[in-house]
Amino acid sequence: MNRHRTDPPASGATDPGLVSRDLRVVWHPCTQMKDHESLPPIAIRRGEGVWLEDVDGNRYLDAVSSWWVNLFGHANPRIAAAVARQAQTLEHVIFAGLTHEPAIRVAERLVSIAPPGLGRCFFADNGSAAVEVALKMSFHYWHNRGNTRKTRFVALANGYHGETLGALAVGDVDLYKSLYRPMLMDVIMAPSPDCYARDPGESWESHSLRRFESMERILERHADEVAAVIVEPLVQCAGGMRMYHPVYLARLREACDRFGVHLIADEIAVGFGRTGTMFACEQARITPDFLCLSKGLTGGFLPMSVVMTHEEVYDAFYDEYTSQRAFLHSHSYTGNPLACSAALATLDLFAETDVLESNRAKAARLGRRARELEAHPHVAEVRQCGMIVAIEMVKSKATREPYPWQERRGLRVYRHALSRGVLLRPLGNVIYFLPPYVIDEAGIDLITSVAAEGIELATCD
Ligand code: PMP
Repeated sequence: MNRHRTDPPASGATDPGLVSRDLRVVWHPCTQMKDHESLPPIAIRRGEGVWLEDVDGNRYLDAVSSWWVNLFGHANPRIAAAVARQAQTLEHVIFAGLTHEPAIRVAERLVSIAPPGLGRCFFADNGSAAVEVALKMSFHYWHNRGNTRKTRFVALANGYHGETLGALAVGDVDLYKSLYRPMLMDVIMAPSPDCYARDPGESWESHSLRRFESMERILERHADEVAAVIVEPLVQCAGGMRMYHPVYLARLREACDRFGVHLIADEIAVGFGRTGTMFACEQARITPDFLCLSKGLTGGFLPMSVVMTHEEVYDAFYDEYTSQRAFLHSHSYTGNPLACSAALATLDLFAETDVLESNRAKAARLGRRARELEAHPHVAEVRQCGMIVAIEMVKSKATREPYPWQERRGLRVYRHALSRGVLLRPLGNVIYFLPPYVIDEAGIDLITSVAAEGIELATCD
């Protein structure tokens, strides 16, 4: 079925052309480029379903959905055809003053499936931009309502919301943030409800509730100056797939209402079924004031994001032009019709088959296979939320002392997995699976057994 790569850096050697051309002119994201001296980038020529194929014909199962964007497989024929059709009709048009049916339909369909009350869609072109939009809109809403004191934000420790300066400021992953601190606005950080930190024997619910007490105290003290609280509902993805109980979101919604503070739900990574429900907020039965969506929105085909909000926010901006209340934020590619056509095809795929239902069996198998590693002497926890499963590698199981980051144990797992035809991309010491929904049982068995081998190799010294 698939030819596996057997000799990790070999693809660079067998296709010196492409890789050396890349290394001469390209600067890759989130990469120490010097690493490519020993592990060259892999030149991919095509994708199909869960598989990626490099220029030498080696295949890799994309267990991370290419940074969590892909839902229904690479080069999905339905989405590809929709984009191709759209490209022959209207590729792009300025979205201020003009509109088009693909964007209107995307907005209508999102309104029909989002948590109740979110009736307005503002388009942007990537996840970080959506976060910036939500932050600015919240601040601006209070300003338009005559409250100019609300200029600050509350966020969760260990959260991640993107790389632009506002998004980075409300994030808390040191690896990406610490150097840039002098450039960033000052954000109030609440302790994370992350249940990895729960006491032995404590339930997720009780731990998340306990952590909520600090959030409540922060809101009590700072509500006057806080525009919004921003969270990643249920799973802090870039922070190591750390998970928490929906009760935290339910309490947070209630407290935000009580203290007059907006709630921004960043579902850029967890939206569109990743956590087992279409949107993670559904599990807490809440509607945020702002819902940020991206990644899976286009099935992984094209960059696009949407910020959804409710009519009360919209109304605060709706006035005579001269009142200067309008939201004058824009991106050139706002509402791009090609991205909208990909989103519509993606939403069709959700509507036509019960994806969430069929994912349940897949998630159960994925979790079961991954939990076989619970007994491993260097695995502290295997956790799961829907189609997201993470394995926490530690130096000491007894004390949960992590491996020093400098040892780059996760990289060893990455290298091994590539040699076995699987694309894993550990977050430090956390190995995780976040596969496209078209993965089958054999695929699940492959990625979990390759991860087990990788963990064994990475922890043997
Ligand atoms: N928010 C969350 C929760 C994310 O996981 C990400 C991306 N990993 C972003 C925001 C930023 O999205 P983008 O990379 O498209 O800017």
